Amino acid sequence: MPNNIDDLIERQLICANCEERVREDYASTVRGEIFCNTCYNELFSACGRCGDTKYQEDLVYSDVLEDDFCSSCFDDLHTKCTECGEVLAYDHVGTVSSETDEDYCEECYNLTFTKCKECGCEIEREGNEDHCCEECLGKREVVEV
Ligand SMILES: [Zn+2]
Ligand SMILES: [Zn+2]
Ligand SMILES: [Zn+2]
Ligand SMILES: [Zn+2]
Repeated sequence: MPNNIDDLIERQLICANCEERVREDYASTVRGEIFCNTCYNELFSACGRCGDTKYQEDLVYSDVLEDDFCSSCFDDLHTKCTECGEVLAYDHVGTVSSETDEDYCEECYNLTFTKCKECGCEIEREGNEDHCCEECLGKREVVEV
């Protein structure tokens, strides 16, 4: 059956990387280019969030989320500690300061801020030996007078 043989030859594709012939069912197509499964797995990875296939080198590995992400997803999912620059994942983030609206890792947050012992609101640690916010301090003074 010559027709079938022709079909078979036509279906044998060439891998864009190793230039080996590859059967259609062992090939993957990335942006119009054919890759054998071996090369595909070596060269590409899918973004852990949007599933987009990217060159490995275009993906950023997140230690926090233990997955590869394309740069836009990485930016969407991560932030940096304002103090030490540590990369943080938004859902693992230490704390966002309500006062400065900046992200902190837990360690830096605890070094920078503390809670008012009266009302529990966020206050900067520096110059606050009383661990009391201005509002509560004001109230206390009024009571004491
Ligand atoms: Zn190949
Ligand atoms: Zn992505
Ligand atoms: Zn930090
Ligand atoms: Zn207070």
